[in-house]
Amino acid sequence: MLRGLWRIIAGTWWLVVGLIVVFKHLFFRRAITIQFPKERMVMWPRFRGRVGMVPGDNGAKHKCTGCGQCVRACPAACIFLDTHKEEGVKGLIVDRYAIDLGLCIYCALCVEICPFGALRTVTDYEISVFDKGELMWEMDGLLEPRRAPRFKR
Ligand code: SF4
Ligand code: SF4
Repeated sequence: MLRGLWRIIAGTWWLVVGLIVVFKHLFFRRAITIQFPKERMVMWPRFRGRVGMVPGDNGAKHKCTGCGQCVRACPAACIFLDTHKEEGVKGLIVDRYAIDLGLCIYCALCVEICPFGALRTVTDYEISVFDKGELMWEMDGLLEPRRAPRFKR
């Protein structure tokens, strides 16, 4: 009998404690969540998001020389690079540079190893898709600093 009464008192006490915490957060604390997609987080500049390509200097589209070091360093084997050589042109011509973000593990080893500073991590985090195939990002997408938000309200 006493044990049952004690349980009721203890249960009521912890219920009240829980409600105090709830109301404290409801009225006196700033929310730590946001109303996505109505609101969007501004990431820190050093946020290590997806990998992107760096635009080249003097009007060049990108800085990639096609050396393939990032491809060799990538532990997820998700970088796809096609190059060819042209008569009279120094170096390689990059035909395709793509990353399968569905496989990428965001380790940024490719960024660190690139000797030409052609890759960077960007603060873009809205990259979810309904079709897995859309996670294959080609050069034009990788050059964008941020993809236009797909989920709007
Ligand atoms: S390491 Fe840099 S320059 Fe070499 S292929 Fe990769 S992105 Fe291009
Ligand atoms: S971040 Fe890592 S897994 Fe992703 S492309 Fe670069 S090396 Fe590969």
